[in-house]
Amino acid sequence: MPALTENDCAPYIGRFAPSPTGPLHFGSLVAAVGSYLRARDQSGTWLLRMEDLDPPREQPGAAEAILRTLEAHGLGWDGEVMYQSARHGRYREVLEGLLRSGLAYRCDCSRKQQAERSAPPGIYDGHCRTRHVGEHGQHAVRLLAEGDIHFDDPVQGPQSQNLQREVGDFVLRRADGLYAYQLAVVVDDGDQGVTEVVRGSDLLDSSARQIHLQRLLDLPRPGYIHLPLALNRQGQKLSKQNLATAVDDRRPLPSLIEALRFLGQAPPPELAEATLDEFWRWAIAHWRLESVPRGSRIAG
Ligand code: GLU
Ligand code: ZN
Repeated sequence: MPALTENDCAPYIGRFAPSPTGPLHFGSLVAAVGSYLRARDQSGTWLLRMEDLDPPREQPGAAEAILRTLEAHGLGWDGEVMYQSARHGRYREVLEGLLRSGLAYRCDCSRKQQAERSAPPGIYDGHCRTRHVGEHGQHAVRLLAEGDIHFDDPVQGPQSQNLQREVGDFVLRRADGLYAYQLAVVVDDGDQGVTEVVRGSDLLDSSARQIHLQRLLDLPRPGYIHLPLALNRQGQKLSKQNLATAVDDRRPLPSLIEALRFLGQAPPPELAEATLDEFWRWAIAHWRLESVPRGSRIAG
C-alpha cells in the first residue's frame, strides 16, 4: 500500500459564498450545486458564507431568501452561516498588520488622477507607494502586488498572471471605508480552513490576487476550481444586474436537473420524477469533475 501523504489525510473543506444582491438565480445555483457535489464527493464539509460586505449593492431580504432557496433545493450546509458583516473587526486587524509591516499602504489618488497617469487603463501605477499618505484624510488602502502567480485549475487548466503588469497594487479597503472582497475572501477562507474553492469562472481572474495575499499572510493555499458560467441570450453572465429570473423554490427538481446538465453530468430522464433525496443520492454517486466543461454557455 502506498504511504499516505499529509495531504491525503487533510479533511476537505469547501464553501459557497453568495452576495445578497438579489435572489438566487440559475447561474448561482450552478455554482452552489458544483461546489456542493465536489465537497460531498470528497466526503468533505460544505460551508456557507454570506458575503454581505457592500450594503449599497445589497437587497433587503435577499440573504434570507438565498438561504430558503438553498434549503428548498436540498443544499444543506454544515455548521453556522458566516456573515461578513459581522467580521469588520477581524478585517481591520489584518489590514493594520499589513500596513504596519509595510506590505500595504494608503493611497489618496482620485479616479481622475489615476486615469490621467496610468498607462494601461485600470492598472494602478504605485504612485502612493512612497508618499506616506496620512491616516486622517479620505484614502484607500492598497496591497503591494508583484511577481508571477501560477496555479492549476482542474477544469480551466494551468493559469498564470503577472501581478505588476496585469493587476497592479490592488485595493483592500476602499476610500468609502468598505473592505474589499479580495481582503475579506482571503481572511475568511483562511479562518474557515477552506481547502478548495469551487466557484464561477467570473472570479478566475481574482485567484492570483488571492493567492498573493495568502502568501503575505502566511496562510495555506487552497485549490481552485472555476466552473463554466451560465450566460443569457445576449452572452452576458446571468446576474442580478441583468435581472436573471430567480429559481423557483416550489419546483426545485427541474432547475437542479438543468444545473447538473449544465455541469456536464448526465442525469437519466427518470430523475425528473425523483424525490429530492433520490436526486441528491444519484447526483453524488455519479458526480464526475472530469465531465465538467470549461466554457461558459447560454443556459436553457
Ligand atoms: N460573493 C461572490 C459572488 O457572489 C463569490 C465569492 C467567491 O466565491 O469567492 O460572486
Ligand atoms: Zn495613490
